[in-house]
Amino acid sequence: MHDCHNEIFGWMRPLGAELRIDAAGNLRGLYPATTPNAPKLFIGSHLDTVPNAGAYDGILGVVLAVALLEALEGRQFPFAIEVVGFSEEEGVRFGSPFIGSRALIGTLDQDLMSHRDANGISVAQAIADFGLNPTEIPQAALKDDILGYVEFHIEQGPVLDTLGRPLGVVEAIAGQSRLEFTFVGRANHAGTTPMNLRHDAIAAAAEWIGAVERQAQAVPGLVATVGKIDAKPSATNVIAGEVRLTLDIRHGSDEIRTSSLNHLIRSAEEIAQKRGLLVSRKTLLSQPAVAMHPFLVSEIEAAIRASGCEPHRMVSGAGHDAMILAEKVPAAMIFLRSPGGISHDPAESVRIEDVASALECGLQLLDQLSSSPLLQKRMPRA
Ligand SMILES: [Zn+2]
Repeated sequence: MHDCHNEIFGWMRPLGAELRIDAAGNLRGLYPATTPNAPKLFIGSHLDTVPNAGAYDGILGVVLAVALLEALEGRQFPFAIEVVGFSEEEGVRFGSPFIGSRALIGTLDQDLMSHRDANGISVAQAIADFGLNPTEIPQAALKDDILGYVEFHIEQGPVLDTLGRPLGVVEAIAGQSRLEFTFVGRANHAGTTPMNLRHDAIAAAAEWIGAVERQAQAVPGLVATVGKIDAKPSATNVIAGEVRLTLDIRHGSDEIRTSSLNHLIRSAEEIAQKRGLLVSRKTLLSQPAVAMHPFLVSEIEAAIRASGCEPHRMVSGAGHDAMILAEKVPAAMIFLRSPGGISHDPAESVRIEDVASALECGLQLLDQLSSSPLLQKRMPRA
């Protein structure tokens, strides 16, 4: 990561940006405004990635921010532009995502700082080992002078590629629920137990998995996945007595996600009752949807159009730093088409002409924001 920071610093130094690494390990490069004390527009994404990753998730958003500054050729705006390359977005090392962006909104708390990696090293220790001072993290937090946060990111899904559109604008980041369901029936002999006298936990779970898929297919925008299943005793000649399985369900509207989840809970109970089984459940995660800033969304939509592309409004099924920043500042995201919808894999790619369109869209957006009411509200009083 030191090498990565130095590489990006090398690109940004000639652009007249003021460079630093904050105490949470985020790269920060401030490009000045036409006037002092002007508000700041943040543009960036994350610099970390997953094992066996592709070359674009996260880093493309940082490189695009640097390329935008380069394309300005010294031109300045009534707002400063701060390029940010977040640390630890993926949560690979400590099992907790968004460590860098949480520092910016002041929610990188002691609990999170004490999380440990596989070698027992805490977040606080890792920060110190990197050469930073964890007690200075509060100084990484955003001040009141923020115009907004804009993030370019590959879509990591097939929607834009299927539509044949280079760029999309994210309206909301989907809320998600993760649960574990357990069907308990009765294990018994596969040869001697007649079909009408069985309480087969795998058959019950299978019926319910079908219901999950049908529900998600019937509700626009809903995605629901049973990704993990464990049966007991798991033997060829034994009717399963117990099945544990997970449900991951997501939607841009919390109301639709909750009502669909309730429907699936009722459906599990009905299936269990009909077959003489018991079903229980445990909630592992319940995270509300996060709306992107409506004004920024419509400005981005106009900027995409001005760059010669037909915009597509969409919900992000994955979490992003923008979701964290949105708690404190106006935030929005621009998605670039992911060829084949492939991500978190070495085959992840992006089209060079889509990157050119994203850059053009970014330049349009900066011009639009120079005269926007969002800016007027945040200018210091004369
Ligand atoms: Zn990412």
